[in-house]
Amino acid sequence: MSPGDGVPVDETCRVQGAEGGVWAAGDVTGIARTTHAARYQADVALSNILGSHREADYRAIPRVVYTTPTVYAVGVTPGRAAELGIDLRTAGYDLAATARAAVEADDRGRVELYADRSRGLLIGAAAAGLHAEEWMSEIALAIRAETPLGLLADVVHAFPTYGESVEAPLRELAGPLAAPEEEAR
Ligand SMILES: Cc1cc2nc3c(=O)[nH]c(=O)nc-3n(C[C@H](O)[C@H](O)[C@H](O)COP(=O)(O)OP(=O)(O)OC[C@H]3O[C@@H](n4cnc5c(N)ncnc54)[C@H](O)[C@@H]3O)c2cc1C
Repeated sequence: MSPGDGVPVDETCRVQGAEGGVWAAGDVTGIARTTHAARYQADVALSNILGSHREADYRAIPRVVYTTPTVYAVGVTPGRAAELGIDLRTAGYDLAATARAAVEADDRGRVELYADRSRGLLIGAAAAGLHAEEWMSEIALAIRAETPLGLLADVVHAFPTYGESVEAPLRELAGPLAAPEEEAR
């Protein structure tokens, strides 16, 4: 193990190579050093210790910097997608174009969504904006649940919210990548 690496665990959070039942959760695993990831791994480990097989899925663990405005990212970055050979399609939107920005008198920020062109699914996103850690949760859910783009583009957001900012990029991505009539049913 090198400095900075974690204790190696398998998908069930069981420590690899250890004798008997040894489990690890949190920063010590080196996987996603956040409180929410630590809690998630603890849940996964506990389920397995209690006898229900459960595997951790790290595809949609949010990464947040609590600045003003918030900086938020989830899933695959464009750089990582390039390393993985994923044919990425991106679409974005400036928060200044939302009515909420006028209401809040704060037009800073932007959202960017990343879709895997071959699978027609969202695989990552980034945003900077007030409370992005709250209104981007639906994108984390969409990535984790592999929600079809056509269905996502059919979701109605309340007016005036920053959440409306994902509608235009979702429509842009769904257009060439999905069959909305089928998936929105
Ligand atoms: C400044 C700062 C800000 C952060 N802000 C955020 C944030 O906003 N959101 C977020 O999600 N994450 C944040 N994090 C990361 C987050 O704190 C960690 O990811 C999280 O606490 C990991 O939980 P853990 O249980 O794995 O480890 P810890 O919370 O570090 O708990 C480990 C515990 O083990 C104890 N311990 C260590 N060695 C021993 C030993 N030999 N014997 C007995 N006990 C021992 C320690 O004292 C500690 O209490 C922040 C971290 C830092 C440093």
